[in-house]
Parts: sequence; structure tokens; C-alpha cells
Amino acid sequence: MRLAGKRILITAAGQGIGRASALACAQEGAQVLATDRDQALLADLGANGIETAVLDVTDPVAIVAMATRAGRLDGLFNCAGFVHHGTILDATDDDWSFSMDLNVTSMLRLTRACLPAMLDRAAETGSVSILNMASMASSIKGFVNRTVYGATKAAVIGLTKAVAADFVKQGVRCNALCPGTVDTPSLRGRIAAAADPVQAEKDFVARQPMGRLATVDDITPLVVYLLSDESRFVTGQAVLVDGGVTI
Ligand code: NAD
Repeated sequence: MRLAGKRILITAAGQGIGRASALACAQEGAQVLATDRDQALLADLGANGIETAVLDVTDPVAIVAMATRAGRLDGLFNCAGFVHHGTILDATDDDWSFSMDLNVTSMLRLTRACLPAMLDRAAETGSVSILNMASMASSIKGFVNRTVYGATKAAVIGLTKAVAADFVKQGVRCNALCPGTVDTPSLRGRIAAAADPVQAEKDFVARQPMGRLATVDDITPLVVYLLSDESRFVTGQAVLVDGGVTI
């Protein structure tokens, strides 16, 4: 079991990549603390031996309480994020603030709250791992209608590299995960909200050179790897799993 003995906190674990990651980590022997804003989405994870808790990552008080509950984590997967659709002309100040808060500030706050106990854990074991959800749409590549989203995910990569640099000598690794387009409930929502949903799905698929969307199971092996000791020499990286988009 690749994550045996490791305690891992995951945000936005109610559906999509976060949920699949919680299940994959538990299957590899981790003691998973799966959190989400929506309690109903977490309900059946308990049947898989996963500890669940409600956490809205935009709530700074709840974040501090969750870090206390989590204790000496071996792994933290900051997965929560929101996709704003539109160009810079569509982006209001409120859109910007909302996305920065959810996609970036939440990661700063939760990492800052969990890190002291993770440093203690790293002193015991030699290694802990923080994984931040970025995207290929970021500082890696620009996409149409992703101004706010791409800027926030670029900030996630910057945050990741800074944390990695500051704590590399104390056994803390920090990496960013950069998926291509993944078939998740929120992607289905974006497709359904398009003026022409059939064309919208075709357009998402067309930008994937492999000719298909990723499934969550294409992403979770990398999550497990980056949270496990198999990646012990990997830190400060923006790791792509994009089906060839950035070839
Ligand atoms: P999703 O958008 O389908 O699900 C999001 C989950 O986040 C839901 O369970 C929701 O309840 C939860 N959530 C929303 N706001 C929250 C908050 N304030 N606090 C806590 N939980 C909250 O999931 P997804 O599409 O797998 O996306 C997960 C992450 O992966 C996001 O950061 C997203 O930007 C990133 N990502 C997704 C894709 C993709 O194509 N789906 C590609 C690259 C990166």
C-alpha cells in the first residue's frame, strides 16, 4: 500500500477529482480526512472508511479549526477551485475576488494553518507532502474565456514554488497538479450552460490531442504518487497530466 500510515486531508472531496482522490488514497492505505462545503456529497464516503467533515475553504475560522482537528498531517491536497468563464471584459471585480478567495487565498490559509503540525510530522518521518490543484490553464498555457481562472491557477503555481523553496530543508514537499480537461460534474455543468451544449462538448474534446476528455481515474494515480514517498525527490513542480495539450 503506497500511502500506508499516512494521514491526508483533502478539500472539495465531495465530487469530481477530490472525491476520486479521497477514494484512491484510502485504497492505498491512507487515513483520509475528506472535506467539502456540501455535507450531502460526503455522506457515502464514510462507508469506505474515510473520515468526513464539512469545510468551506472560504471560511478562515473554519480553516483554523480544521487544521487543529487534522493534527499532524502527512499530506494535504488543496483541491477546491472554481472556473470563471469569460474574457477580461466579462470579469467584474466581484468575480475576481470570489475566484482569488476560493482558488488561491483558501490554499494560503489552509496551508499556513496546517504547516506547523506538518513540520513536526516531517521532523519525525523526514517527509510530508502538500499538493495544490492548479491547471494547464495557468502560467503554463492560455485558453479562451479563462482570464480569471488562468490567473488564479498561475498564482497557485507561484504559491506552490514559494512554499517548496521555503521548507525544502525541513522535509516539506509542495507540488502543483495541472490537469487537462477532466470529465467531472462541474465540467458537465459548464457544458450544459453553453448556448450550444453539443458544440461545447465537441470544443472541449477538440482541444485534447488524445481525442477524449480525461476521467478522474486518469488523474488520481498522479495524486497518489505526489502524496506518497515515491515522489520524495520531487518538489516545487507544476506537474502536467493533460493528454498532450501542451506538447
Ligand atoms: P467539481 O468542480 O465538479 O467539484 C467541486 C467540489 O468543490 C464540489 O464537491 C463542491 O461542493 C466543492 N466546493 C465548492 N466550493 C467549495 C468551498 N468553498 N469549500 C469547499 N468545497 C467547495 O470538481 P472538479 O471539476 O474535479 O474540480 C476540482 C479542482 O480541479 C478545481 O480546483 C478545478 O479548478 C481543478 N481542475 C479541474 C479540471 C476539470 O476539467 N474538471 C481541470 C483542471 C483543474
